[in-house]
Amino acid sequence: MSKVVKFGGSSLASAEQFRKVGNIIRADKERRYVVPSAPGKRFPKDTKVTDMLYSCYALAEEGKNFAGGLKEIRERYGEIISGLKLDLSLDEEFKTIEQNFKAKAGSNYAASRGEYLNGIIMANYLGFEFIDAAQVIFFDEHGDFDGEKTNEVLSAKLEGCECAVIPGFYGSLPDGTIKTFSRGGSDVTGSIVAKAAKADVYENWTDVSGFMIADPRIIDSPERIEVITYKELRELSYMGASVLHEDAIFPVRQEGIPINIRNTNAPEDEGTWIVGSTCQKSRYVITGIAGKKGFCSINIEKDMMNAEIGFGRKVLQAFEDQGISFEHVPSGIDTMTVFVHQDEFMHKEQQVVAGIHRLAKPDTIEIESDIALIAVVGRGMKSMRGTAGRIFAALAHNHINVKMIDQGSSEQNIIIGVSDQDFEVAIRAIYEIFVLTKL
Ligand code: ASP
Repeated sequence: MSKVVKFGGSSLASAEQFRKVGNIIRADKERRYVVPSAPGKRFPKDTKVTDMLYSCYALAEEGKNFAGGLKEIRERYGEIISGLKLDLSLDEEFKTIEQNFKAKAGSNYAASRGEYLNGIIMANYLGFEFIDAAQVIFFDEHGDFDGEKTNEVLSAKLEGCECAVIPGFYGSLPDGTIKTFSRGGSDVTGSIVAKAAKADVYENWTDVSGFMIADPRIIDSPERIEVITYKELRELSYMGASVLHEDAIFPVRQEGIPINIRNTNAPEDEGTWIVGSTCQKSRYVITGIAGKKGFCSINIEKDMMNAEIGFGRKVLQAFEDQGISFEHVPSGIDTMTVFVHQDEFMHKEQQVVAGIHRLAKPDTIEIESDIALIAVVGRGMKSMRGTAGRIFAALAHNHINVKMIDQGSSEQNIIIGVSDQDFEVAIRAIYEIFVLTKL
């Protein structure tokens, strides 16, 4: 039996946090493979070490003096090492980093040192083997993650290794250059390691006790989601719910390994389980609500559109030509609406409109901005009648005009478009009807 445990930046921001992490790992012998992030914020106004590394390296790249920045980073690690009373010096490591900064080794290399150094400290603190992620996590020549090669090398490595620390966030390109995942990418490393280790569970330790049904910035102390499926999570994270990096789902999902989101500051909390499928009903009809502001709708009208084969394709072609992806395309008999991200669309608006005119020859095109999309997600919706009815009744009671409705064919989600200014009220109304009044 083995568990892979990934700890986020706030769980490793100080010696005190490291101690909590140490206790968690020692409390369960199955917690054999550890994936640390770089030290995060110790207090709200603090700076993450990853951000310090990016700024420090930006100076180096401009040929400016970066000694002060590097010293501050060194102090962050020094504080952890001395706080834990470790017999460990990072002098040589910092010498190498300084040289590589001078040689302009790249911002990916620079950022990766946050996890690399934290991994060395963690391995020393736990008495585990240190495995440099550059030796076991690979990207191909296009910079895409090479899952096959990674799994082969990494699983062979882990087989001969009882307990190890593998730093998150980075790997290497075929020529040995360091490359990172996108921000928050240690979650992805954790998932890759869990797959390679054929782990029973991937525990992802952070500073909240799992996923909440709705955003706590909108709902005061929302309830926790106990069990969520990968599919539901995809829908919610796509719509802005963030705890876990989007790509972290895929490696473990292929292997049917569950993810358990846990809180380093409240290790007794069960957290949230993310699973492939479950017979456990969610406590409410809905599993979660998430949403995003800042969408645009492009409403296209043409008489007899219904009879024109290929009309939709021509319209979408105009978006594709400008490299814009669409979110939803609800349609009527003579109308078709395309929802896009406002910030992606804004500066290409006129080219897209001209393209639609040229390709599809519509009668009119109208653009509306500042629309929010809200996803109401739940595996429980499938077998329930009246879910949509309840959502719209709740919105109507709160005087919210619904601009768009889209129910995915899986019947696991309903997407609603409202104006940006109604966004928060709409989320509260939906939360209230399903969770607070338990209808
Ligand atoms: N340290 C990196 C970041 O801040 C990666 C991570 O924490 O997952 O994005």
